Amino acid sequence: MLSLLFAALAPLLVLAQDGDVSGPTSSASAAGYSCDTSKCQLPNCLCASTSPPGGLKPSDVPQFIVFTADDAVQSYTLDAVNQFLAQRKNPNGCAPKMTYFTSLNFTNYTLVTDWYVAGNEIADHTMTHVGTPPAEEVNGNLIALNALAGIPMSSLQGFRAPFLNYSRETLEILYQSKFLYDSSATSAVPVTDPDTDAFWPYTLDFGMANNCLEVTNTCKGEPKLPGFWEIPMYAFFDKLGVNGPHLMDPWLDNANGETAPNDTATLEYMKDTFNTHYNGNRQPIGLYTHPIHLSRTYPGVDVRNSTIDMINAFLDWAQEQQNVWIVSNIQMLDWIRNPVPVSQLDQVSSLKCTTPQVDASTKICNGMPQNEAGLLSHCAFSDFPFYTCYGCPEIQPSPDNPNPSQQIPDGQAARFRLPANCSTPFWDPVKGQCICTSDTCSFADNSRPVGPNGANLTGGGTGGGFGSSGAAPTPTYIPFNGGAPRFSVGVWNAFAVGLIGAMIGVFGVYRF
Ligand SMILES: [Zn+2]
Repeated sequence: MLSLLFAALAPLLVLAQDGDVSGPTSSASAAGYSCDTSKCQLPNCLCASTSPPGGLKPSDVPQFIVFTADDAVQSYTLDAVNQFLAQRKNPNGCAPKMTYFTSLNFTNYTLVTDWYVAGNEIADHTMTHVGTPPAEEVNGNLIALNALAGIPMSSLQGFRAPFLNYSRETLEILYQSKFLYDSSATSAVPVTDPDTDAFWPYTLDFGMANNCLEVTNTCKGEPKLPGFWEIPMYAFFDKLGVNGPHLMDPWLDNANGETAPNDTATLEYMKDTFNTHYNGNRQPIGLYTHPIHLSRTYPGVDVRNSTIDMINAFLDWAQEQQNVWIVSNIQMLDWIRNPVPVSQLDQVSSLKCTTPQVDASTKICNGMPQNEAGLLSHCAFSDFPFYTCYGCPEIQPSPDNPNPSQQIPDGQAARFRLPANCSTPFWDPVKGQCICTSDTCSFADNSRPVGPNGANLTGGGTGGGFGSSGAAPTPTYIPFNGGAPRFSVGVWNAFAVGLIGAMIGVFGVYRF
């Protein structure tokens, strides 16, 4: 068993460096891009451009920091993300949300439900983490996330290719499957360079304009996929400029051509790059994480406390500036499709924060920890065991069979899976009924007015004390499970942890 899994996963480790960039991945001549702005208009068409959407002046535009995570969803990975986001507020008083590009090996489905119900975006990263994936890997993930994590199909709108390896065909598969966006392309030329490829997110009505030096049969007007968005991933740049790009997990990289990671140097270039965006055309900044590398609790991962503190110091610093928002991809895209100046951000519904109004005493398996306690099914598969509200499948989901028939324990009834006309926090999979029967029970808006008349234009919250008085700061963060395991860890975690730990031991820190 172990050797089988090991063999299955080992190739991923070999390919894992493919997500890294070492220099420009596009150029103006390779892009050969032209777009007719008279024919391409919002909300469903936008030309690739370094200027903000809607003809807005940069000073009228929010500076978005997109926070994303990739790969399996586990308590460790959510705790890792919470180290950076749980204590923060955006300028409207709402906690920041993020995008989780989820692949299903090692994923605990019930935590996907919880993370989604808490307001985060769940997006597709293939079922078994394969680059240039076939359609079954892309679509099977949607089916499994819908069936076993209760994520509405309508909410699964984004995709990122494992290792950032995509082809023209990948984009076409996404378009055919009615995805709203892909976020696998890279921008690896600084915004200060006249030949920059740091375009605001754009639709593919006139083809791709990124990765034109790398992905064959794209660019120069291809592929034309009307209304389908590319959200480029924007690199940071160290002192080497265009020769020192850092894309995913920049804190694991060596800065400035040095021979070891250096948190001080990383923080410096992250701030420098932020400034070029913020003081320029305000193209988004991205923190593209593999949270497992930032876990303090995952055996075999040896993250430096100074790295955690450095990332928090960067976010603290960024949030002290006006009009800086930490968002998910889908929140950002909602604004881009209907851009309004910062004075009108109150109107942007996706930036508001809402809590589903479900009484804490209600016993319902709905992705809210206080409600669903005791109602989860444990699916005891030997290699990737998991928990779910929606009944265990008889066999593990796979690209060939992403939604196997349900295993029904003796004396119990089958769980009902989420229908299209009810939202996750209100669906009772045990009784098969939607407890939300009117508009009034749906969501309560907890956001507060945002400047200039509503006072705050800045966000808030603090992280560690990187570079401060010298005393090791105590990081303040809220573990996802409230500090204690919500259910017994049991065999599956021990197994998965042992396996991953062994892999890290052999290969060093892996980069999916
Ligand atoms: Zn990945």
